[in-house]
Amino acid sequence: MARSNAEPILSVRNLQTVFYTEHETIRAVDNISFDVNRGETVGIVGESGSGKSVTARSIMGMIESPGRILEGSSIEFEGRELTELTNEEYRSVRGSGIGMVFQDPRNSLNPVYTIGNQIKESLNVNRGITGAEATREAISLLESVGIPDAERRLSEYPHEFSGGMNQRAVIAMMLACEPEFLIVDEPTTALDVTIQAQILDLLKELQEERNLSILFITHDMGVIADISDRVNVMYAGQIVEKAPVESLFANPQHPYTEALIETIPGEETREEGLRTIEGEVPTPNEPATYCRFAPRCPKAFDACETNPPANVPVGEGDEHFAACLLYPEGLSEAERLERHREHQPRTGIDSGGADE
Ligand code: SF4
Repeated sequence: MARSNAEPILSVRNLQTVFYTEHETIRAVDNISFDVNRGETVGIVGESGSGKSVTARSIMGMIESPGRILEGSSIEFEGRELTELTNEEYRSVRGSGIGMVFQDPRNSLNPVYTIGNQIKESLNVNRGITGAEATREAISLLESVGIPDAERRLSEYPHEFSGGMNQRAVIAMMLACEPEFLIVDEPTTALDVTIQAQILDLLKELQEERNLSILFITHDMGVIADISDRVNVMYAGQIVEKAPVESLFANPQHPYTEALIETIPGEETREEGLRTIEGEVPTPNEPATYCRFAPRCPKAFDACETNPPANVPVGEGDEHFAACLLYPEGLSEAERLERHREHQPRTGIDSGGADE
């Protein structure tokens, strides 16, 4: 587990990313806030359609029309407000400050260039390193991500590498930019379990060596447990629970988190097959005037249909929050509903102001 010094390198506040189609407005990321501290790994976990990858693309400045980040959203990286940057300025942040590793390495590698050329190109564009120095640095980068016989491998093409080796090469390309912050989006999903474990170990080692901060995105609770320091659970565009990893797994509070934890394969599920959560994540195409998890929630009660939950503190300490109307415990239903009304985040989309 990473050592964090509790100083945020990234602060996301009230982030709203919406997509305008002819028929509807999809609130893919609906008013979320979280921090990533220096040197730590923060996980975002949820099923497909929960808004995880749109969150990553919002931070990277990669939202294209008909998508838009609404006014009132804030993404602060090293004290700099990213939502106000020009495309040119954003490119320089992507080139040096923040690197991104996608699920499929083929999205990041060009099949017609050798691995070596692609790493050297990245060294040239981002750090001005060329010639023999670039070759030496490229070899050193491939070695640092555990690719044996690195000098010879430089002249090979992506199709000559296995899936795991290509993902390592992509990580080497990212490291060529000397980023302080990495966003990794389902980096191990396409890989078999052994290679997946190796890539996770590699990320942990690199983080330790380089004091990297990592935002790790996955649908897999087992992977989240392995790599994260703190976790945000996303559902239908919203963060429904956030906690340090130990607290989340020892004491999950939101019914969705409980259901996700039950999907982790274990001894008891091997015979019955892998558990899944019944139903699907709804498309968040209307304001959250109710709990979006209600149709799938075994603990839903009448008020869940008409009251939107806000993140309220749960458990001990001030680091565990859940957006569920069952909390805070020990209060009457009327008191709990009042508490959730008080904690509602402000929104720019429904007031008619910020998205005009
Ligand atoms: S607010 Fe209601 S429906 Fe939503 S998670 Fe809590 S109990 Fe379930």
